[in-house]
Amino acid sequence: MASRTLSKQFARTYATKALKIGLIPGDGIGREVIPAGKQVLEALPSDLGLKFEFTELKAGFELFKQTGTALPDETVEVLQKSCDGALFGAVSSPTTKVEGYSSPIVALRKKLGLYANVRPVKSVEGIGRPVDMVIVRENTEDLYIKEEKLYEKDGQKVAEAIKRITERATTKIGAIALEIALQRQAIRELGGASLHSQPTLTVTHKSNVLSVSDGLFRETVRKLYDSNPAKYSGVQYKEQIVDSMVYRMFREPEIFDVVVAPNLYGDILSDGAAALVGSLGVVPSANVGDNFAIGEPCHGSAPDIEGKGIANPIATIRSTALMLEFMGHPEAASKIYAAVDANLKEDVIKTPDLGGKSSTQEVVADVIRRL
Ligand code: ATP
Repeated sequence: MASRTLSKQFARTYATKALKIGLIPGDGIGREVIPAGKQVLEALPSDLGLKFEFTELKAGFELFKQTGTALPDETVEVLQKSCDGALFGAVSSPTTKVEGYSSPIVALRKKLGLYANVRPVKSVEGIGRPVDMVIVRENTEDLYIKEEKLYEKDGQKVAEAIKRITERATTKIGAIALEIALQRQAIRELGGASLHSQPTLTVTHKSNVLSVSDGLFRETVRKLYDSNPAKYSGVQYKEQIVDSMVYRMFREPEIFDVVVAPNLYGDILSDGAAALVGSLGVVPSANVGDNFAIGEPCHGSAPDIEGKGIANPIATIRSTALMLEFMGHPEAASKIYAAVDANLKEDVIKTPDLGGKSSTQEVVADVIRRL
C-alpha cells in the first residue's frame, strides 16, 4: 500500500496476533448494525492475513436506566488496555435533560483522546450527484467545552457560552487533515476511483466575524501547511467562510476533497453532507486519536425502526473499513469499500431507507458475497 499513509502513525506489529476489537452496540439499532460490522470483519479474505478477536462492551442510555451508569469504567479500561480498535453503534438521546446522564460517546472521545471526527461522504459512481469528500471535525473544543452561564441583566436573562480554540488542538486537527489529504492522493495514485486529481484541503471558518477565535483556527492551519513545503506542496490549500461553504457544498459538492473545521461547523457540515448521498444509513465516521480509532455510523439509535431487522448496515460496514484504515490496514479497508460500492451500484439488495425491501441481514450477506 502507499508508503505515505496514516497507518504508519498507528501501525503496530500484528504479524502473529489477532487484532482485538471492542464492540459497543449501545442502544436501538446499534444492536442490529454492530453485529454486521463483526460479520464483515470475520469474512475478510484470508490472504489479507488478518485475524480478529472481539470483546462485547457495554454503554448507552438503556444501560444508564438499568444501572445508573452510561459508560462503565470497565468499558473504558478494556478499550485502553486490551483493544486495538473499536466499533460503536449508537446511543439514544433523551429529549429532555436526565439528571446524571451524559453521552457515553462524548465521554469516550475525551477519555481516549480521540480529537478528530472523520466523516467521508461519497456517492456511488453513476448514481446521483458526484461527491467524494471527507469532513474532518475537531472534536475536543470550540463551543462544545460547554462553559455556559445564565444571568440577569436589567431584569432580562442573558446566556453566554465560551468558544475556545487553541493552537495546540488546531495544529493536531490540521495535521491529521493534511495527512488524510495525502493518504487519499496516495490511494488514488494506486488506482482508486476518485473525482479529484489533486489533493485539496479546505479550511472552514468565520473569521470575518470571529476574527480572534476562528482567526486563530485559520492562521494555525495555514502556518502548519506553510511550515513543510516538502511534504505539503502537492496539496492545494483553500479557505472558505462557513456560510458560503454550506452554499457551495450543496451547489457543487464535487469540488471538495478534504474539509477541516472547528467542532460546531464540522458538526453542521457533516450532517448536511450526509444529505447529499441519500440516507444517514450509508454514512460512516471514525473518532480518531494518535493511537486509537473507533468506527461509528453517523446515524443515531433510530427507535422508529428498532427491532424490525431493516436497519441499513452500510454506515457501520463502512465505519469498520474506516477503523481498519486508521489501524494501518488500508488493503482490507479498500476491499470492504469496493464490496459496499458494488452492492449500492447494483441497487437491488437494499434496505427500505434506500427504497428497497431487503433486511439488514440480506444486505450483510450481499456485501460479504462481494468481498
Ligand atoms: P437518536 O435519538 O438516537 O438520535 P433519531 O431517530 O433522532 O435517534 P437517527 O437515529 O439518526 O435519529 O434517525 C433519523 C432517521 O433516519 C430515522 O427516521 C431513522 O429511522 C433513519 N435512520 C437512521 N439510521 C438508519 C439506518 N441505519 N437505516 C435505516 N434508517 C435509518
